[in-house]
Amino acid sequence: MKIAILTIGNELMSGRTADTNSSFIAREANLQGWSVEAMLSVEDNFASIKSRLNYLLGLADVVICTGGLGPTADDITTEAIAQAFGLPLYTDEKVLNHIKEIFIKFNLTWIENNTKQAMFPQGAEVIANPVGTAAGFALHIFGKWIFVIPGVPRETQKMFPEGVIPILRREFPENEQYIAKQTIKTFGLGEGAVDKTLADVDFAALGVNIGFYPIFPENHLVLVSRQTTKEAAEEKLKLACDEVTARLNKYIFSYGEKTLEEIVADLLKEKQLTIAVAESCTGGLITDRLTDVAGSSEYLERSVVTYSNAAKVSLLNVPAAIIEKHGAVSEETARLMAEGVRKMAGTDLGLSSTGIAGPSGGSEAKPTGTVYLALSDTAQTICRHYAYRWDRKRNKLIFSQAALLLLKNYLEGKDKP
Ligand code: AMP
Ligand code: MG
Repeated sequence: MKIAILTIGNELMSGRTADTNSSFIAREANLQGWSVEAMLSVEDNFASIKSRLNYLLGLADVVICTGGLGPTADDITTEAIAQAFGLPLYTDEKVLNHIKEIFIKFNLTWIENNTKQAMFPQGAEVIANPVGTAAGFALHIFGKWIFVIPGVPRETQKMFPEGVIPILRREFPENEQYIAKQTIKTFGLGEGAVDKTLADVDFAALGVNIGFYPIFPENHLVLVSRQTTKEAAEEKLKLACDEVTARLNKYIFSYGEKTLEEIVADLLKEKQLTIAVAESCTGGLITDRLTDVAGSSEYLERSVVTYSNAAKVSLLNVPAAIIEKHGAVSEETARLMAEGVRKMAGTDLGLSSTGIAGPSGGSEAKPTGTVYLALSDTAQTICRHYAYRWDRKRNKLIFSQAALLLLKNYLEGKDKP
């Protein structure tokens, strides 16, 4: 089965918005074993939508459209598709009620425009939108399938897997196969290096597809095995995972979908440990990530951002003389920050960061991208020193990653002073 993707919106053509929906849909389609024949973007214009849709229907069995389902006058996708096939529009009462309920729930003023979002070309099957007002639809016409879902990435990312894929699976059952899938998350190697490390593995011979998804500073691998039986799919997947593990073991921090902060949260809860954080160069980012996990109050007691030397002295009891002698960015300061915050908070653990995010502030001895991270418990303090070479934003992010990884390794008993 061949798929084409048509993303619709003036903002795409002006370059204001990058088309992330196409890559998302292509990735998901590939995981299903469907090939993507073409991807096109087009402005919100009747003639353009109709002509690009026609073109893509000549190339593929299925065209997935996103965008142009809003209530405003510029969003015309549904009307354009109805016009293209000479279909009248009908109002779906269930969808209309759903939209009205959302308006009531959020106390919004009803504007008649909104009824537009409950209109569909005759013969279309509605695809519910669990995260917004714009429902999508599927249209089976002239032996082809057209799907239309909203352009908002969050909505596309919900509705393509949950609304579109099940219909395609239903309509193209000859492709029915058992799928086994494993995500492997790595940190510490660039995408090119990961690829090179795996270059000698013949994944095709193993019957497994591998996808690379760099999400800075992590590189995720997704292995997918598609076989006629569940057992075969799982067995092939396991063989491929073993090959990846054998080569990338020390860079792998997770098998599965959990984020690094979720893994750390689970470990802290399992071990019933509390933590306090003292951040300098990360400006609160470590804490931000720790508190992204619901229930983080169970283990996080407090965090302080001690950006100045004076703050490190007054809030963490780091002796001014130590900072004077070794510098704020030093192993000594990092250790005393972690110990200081732990003692102040009365927690089991103290975690600290001090470094130079850049672009200025570096020196020959301590270049931009230098960071010291320390983790203190009642018996010991571990300190790690890294030198990264990214821009300010990415340095901060990678510092927070290294800090959370230090914490994870410690909690797993893998990191000792
Ligand atoms: P629409 O469904 O056309 O009302 O789109 C709503 C918003 O979603 C637009 O303003 C864009 O910010 C965003 N959007 C639309 N299409 C895409 C796309 N292909 N990729 C990423 N974002 C998009
Ligand atoms: Mg739009």
